[in-house]
Amino acid sequence: MAAAVYAARQKISFLMLAKDIGGQTALSSDIENYLGFAHTNGADLTAEFVKHLEDNKVPYSTGEEVTGIEKKNAAFIVRTKDKSYETSTVLIASGKKPRKLDIPGEDRLYAHGVTYCATCEAPLFKDVPVAIVGGGNAAMDAALLCSNYASKVYIITINPDLMGEQNMMDTIRKGSKFQVFYNAKTLEISGSRNVESISFDIGGQKKQVGVKAVFIEIGSVPSADFDKLTEKNAPLKSRSA
Ligand SMILES: Cc1cc2nc3c(=O)[nH]c(=O)nc-3n(C[C@H](O)[C@H](O)[C@H](O)COP(=O)(O)OP(=O)(O)OC[C@H]3O[C@@H](n4cnc5c(N)ncnc54)[C@H](O)[C@@H]3O)c2cc1C
Repeated sequence: MAAAVYAARQKISFLMLAKDIGGQTALSSDIENYLGFAHTNGADLTAEFVKHLEDNKVPYSTGEEVTGIEKKNAAFIVRTKDKSYETSTVLIASGKKPRKLDIPGEDRLYAHGVTYCATCEAPLFKDVPVAIVGGGNAAMDAALLCSNYASKVYIITINPDLMGEQNMMDTIRKGSKFQVFYNAKTLEISGSRNVESISFDIGGQKKQVGVKAVFIEIGSVPSADFDKLTEKNAPLKSRSA
């Protein structure tokens, strides 16, 4: 969106194609480090971004996921599900998407208790136990948010300790709602229609806890997998955690 505002101000002929408006910002809850906005949130900041686009008459099309870019002589063909666009230049600013665990049950139970967005879904799981997979800032942030609603918050991390901001680690270690499983490798998410449990290997033993939701917070990967033309310095495949 920032690139599009610059392009519009330069009177370049272009179209901004976007799967959604707001990207990761739209998924954020409280935002307190964006200069000029001492306290805001993802939804409000996204609304400001859209206003900024519209003030600059940025031509954009949302709900359009780019699926491939091909070279055609001196031009590029940018393909989405239903359309294709010919252009001389492509600017890719496609950000990141959540890294997946790649374990059984993750895809099947997605949106049935498996989620990558605590901001969006934590309030849905009131007075029930939930699990957070991960042990960094994002996982702790999700755990703290979930603790406002859930009856119990299990944190399952592959690492020997939590890693992140000290104040979050202190709150979680002291809080009676939290139970952290360290050195635990997540194996499977189970449930017939909705999430019922999560199992993991801890010290060579399989353990299972009953939960209604699994929040996966193990980092993110670039969402530029549609671009096969540009050399990249890191593989885009997801890593298991
Ligand atoms: C939960 C959460 C909380 C955060 N909190 C903060 C915070 O408090 N302060 C802070 O500074 N930062 C925060 N961040 C990080 C911040 O949101 C990101 O750094 C920022 O959004 C990155 O912007 P971006 O435009 O590079 O990428 P993104 O926000 O990822 O946007 C990329 C856009 O590209 C689109 N896209 C992707 N693939 C395609 C495709 N194939 N075709 C078409 N469109 C596509 C996406 O739909 C999206 O609209 C947070 C992130 C998250 C997830």
